[in-house]
Amino acid sequence: MSYTDITRRCLEASLRAGRSPGSVHLIAVSKVQPDARVRDVLAAGHRLFGENYVQEAQAKWPAFRAEFGPVSVHLIGPLQTNKAKAAVELFDAIHSLDRPALAEKLARLAQARGACPQLFVQVNTGEEPQKAGVLPADLDAFVATVRAMDLPVHGLMCIPPEGEASTPHFVQLAEMAARNGLTGLSMGMSGDFEAAIAQGATHVRVGSAIFGARSVQ
Ligand SMILES: *Cc1c(COP(=O)(O)O)cnc(C)c1O
Repeated sequence: MSYTDITRRCLEASLRAGRSPGSVHLIAVSKVQPDARVRDVLAAGHRLFGENYVQEAQAKWPAFRAEFGPVSVHLIGPLQTNKAKAAVELFDAIHSLDRPALAEKLARLAQARGACPQLFVQVNTGEEPQKAGVLPADLDAFVATVRAMDLPVHGLMCIPPEGEASTPHFVQLAEMAARNGLTGLSMGMSGDFEAAIAQGATHVRVGSAIFGARSVQ
């Protein structure tokens, strides 16, 4: 099963990098996958998943959690401010914090709930106009703004540009995290998760290499 292969490759990459295997979390990205494939990975014992869409996750995870017990689900896709409330109720982490208005909304919700999902700031390391994320030049100020709202930031996330070598983006993200005192690094997908682990990824987001190709994006 691909799931077994990917967990083994994560473990080997961690050891090659001289890191403890427990320092790398494999997020199985289950967006738009058939339930049967997700159930197989749950049955294999995996308990950390990633989703891109609030509505899809709302339709899927309450039932799986009822069946399999506690499962961590991370939002890795963009979050609209009007879905923030549903998102904090459903997700254990949000990897796509990328603008002050969303931070303000999350801070208000965290105050009211007395709890907040783990937060990653998404950085547009490739400075691609169509891509979400804070620009590298704006990152330090954005992290300071979010912290001033009493909102804890755990780490940074990036999606390197397609068709470019990923490693320079991973190196850049790790540097930005270190200088901001952040320990979480969400980077690496099916094609480059081993390279990301070599550069210090704490969370790799792997979809198709575990579940097979998605029929829709
Ligand atoms: C879909 C997605 C992934 C997983 O991509 P694969 O190439 O299938 O591993 C990882 N991160 C984000 C943000 C995604 O949207």
